[in-house]
Amino acid sequence: MSVRIDGKELAAKLREGIREDVQRFKRERGKEIGLAVVLVGEDPASQVYVRNKIKACEEVGIRSYSYHLPAETEQAQLAALVDELVGDEKIHGILVQLPLPKHLDAESILKRIPPEKDVDGFCAENVGNLAMNRTALVACTPFGVMKMLEAYGIDPRGKSAVVLGRSNIVGKPMAMLLLNADATVTVCHSKTKDLAAVCAGADILVVAIGRAKFVTADMVKPGAVVIDVGMDRDENGKLCGDVDYEAVKEKASYITPVPGGVGPMTITMLLYNTVLAAQRS
Ligand code: NAP
Repeated sequence: MSVRIDGKELAAKLREGIREDVQRFKRERGKEIGLAVVLVGEDPASQVYVRNKIKACEEVGIRSYSYHLPAETEQAQLAALVDELVGDEKIHGILVQLPLPKHLDAESILKRIPPEKDVDGFCAENVGNLAMNRTALVACTPFGVMKMLEAYGIDPRGKSAVVLGRSNIVGKPMAMLLLNADATVTVCHSKTKDLAAVCAGADILVVAIGRAKFVTADMVKPGAVVIDVGMDRDENGKLCGDVDYEAVKEKASYITPVPGGVGPMTITMLLYNTVLAAQRS
């Protein structure tokens, strides 16, 4: 039987600290912390994410500036808006909600955001700094995972960590964070051979592939720490993760549920990064 890592509870606790930091910033600097959130188009999932981010900002006292542009917005218009936000002193962080509509080039838009306002931690300079174990704004989801490990007293040092998934926003920065924390890290993906055996060697297994209940108990070492980043739907349309939670919780020492695990930590780390960006401005 395992300990359930409660991301919801931890996120609430961290947000209290963030709220205090926001108030202190206002007192000391005489101004608010501002986050610009840019949404293009009508993607329903993106609209929900953006609404949740704006609500979370309000709850901790960060002023959000929301820009909802029509789906047919042209590249030059979006670029002009981002440039305006880059030059705006009220704005400490800029978030462009992805995915953008297909006719827009997301990479060139994101390149316009300077590293100090890149609160998603996606730009090449922040990724490079993370890779070199230097100060950086770190991608929110993997950063949240590290906070969870820390809060539950799980030290990656010397442990064998396996990261399943190699996306730029989760898998790769996750692997770098674990490496920086002195774990011995293996990154797996769709071409990995003997995946089950590799996973079964992990003391810490972080799963981010987007396949419902993919990780079964036989892929998990007894006593492993299992972190499930996935946000999927099961056969009944119910929200679930990449890990077969019911079976794996009997074998792991610590495990995150879905929902209520990594998800709430992601937005919390966005708030955290926004405060950091403001403090460094
Ligand atoms: P992604 O960009 O689609 O990347 C998926 C990765 O998983 C790829 O590296 C892919 O390998 C690998 N993969 C896919 N199927 C595999 C298989 N059968 N065996 C081994 N590897 C496989 O996904 P993502 O953006 O990282 O997201 C992953 C999951 O996390 C999704 O469910 C997403 O919704 C969730 N997520 C949650 C949060 C949160 O806040 N909780 C935040 C972000 C993402 P290749 O590279 O070889 O194709």
